[in-house]
Amino acid sequence: MTIAENLERIKANIDNIEQKYNRAAGSVKLIAVSKRKPASAILEAINHGQMDFGENYLQEAIDKIESIKQQGIIWHFIGPIQSNKTTTIAKNFDWVHTVDRIKIARRLNDARPTHKSPLNICIQINISNETSKSGIKLTDADSFVKALGEFKQLNIRGLMALPAPEQDFEKQRQPFAELQSLMIRLQKFAPSIDTLSIGTTQDMQAAIAEGATMVRIGTAIFGERD
Ligand SMILES: *Cc1c(COP(=O)(O)O)cnc(C)c1O
Repeated sequence: MTIAENLERIKANIDNIEQKYNRAAGSVKLIAVSKRKPASAILEAINHGQMDFGENYLQEAIDKIESIKQQGIIWHFIGPIQSNKTTTIAKNFDWVHTVDRIKIARRLNDARPTHKSPLNICIQINISNETSKSGIKLTDADSFVKALGEFKQLNIRGLMALPAPEQDFEKQRQPFAELQSLMIRLQKFAPSIDTLSIGTTQDMQAAIAEGATMVRIGTAIFGERD
C-alpha cells in the first residue's frame, strides 16, 4: 500500500465513522503523524492533499520543516516539551498538543513571535495515570485552563490525550468519553475551546465515537516505525 492509498482509505474510514456516530461530515481532522519518517514521505502525503502533520522529536521535526518549503502546511508538535526548547517550538509550529505545565505555557507565550497568530495549544490530560508521566490530572483541568487565560500569545483550543493501549472497543471509549465531558464543561468558561485531540491508529473509531475533532494517525498512513 502506498501513502496515497493509505490516506484515501483512512479518510474514507473517517467519513464512515462520522456517519455511524452522528458526527457532522468533515468534523474530524486528520493529523498525519510523521515522526521517524523522512521528508520524502511527508511530501508524498502533501502531494495527496494532506496539510496537517504531527511531529514528536524537535530536531528531527525542524530538519523536515526547513526542508519542506510548501506553503500552508500546518505543523503540530505532539511530543514531550523540554523547557529549553520552547522558543524553537513557538517559532516553528502552529499547534502544540502537549502543554501540561504553566511554566512551559508561559515560555511558549513569551517566545511566540508577535507577527504570528497566537500559538494553538491543547492541554495534555493524563487520562490513564499509570502509563505515562505526561499530562495533568483530569481534576486539575479547570484551574489549569483558568491559569492559561493570561497568555495572550496562546490560543487555548482544547484537550489532548493518549490513553493506555486497550483492545476492547467499549474500554477504548471510556477514557475518551470522560475527556469529552470535561471539554464540554470547560467550554462554558473558555469559549475558545473547540478541539479534542484523541485517537491513533489503534483507537480512532472509539475516539470519533466520543467526539474527537482531531485524530493523530501515524502507522496506518506511513507504515510501522523502526
Ligand atoms: C506516535 C504518536 C501517534 C500516532 O500513533 P500511531 O499508532 O502510529 O497512529 C499519535 N499521538 C502521539 C502523541 C504519538 O506519539
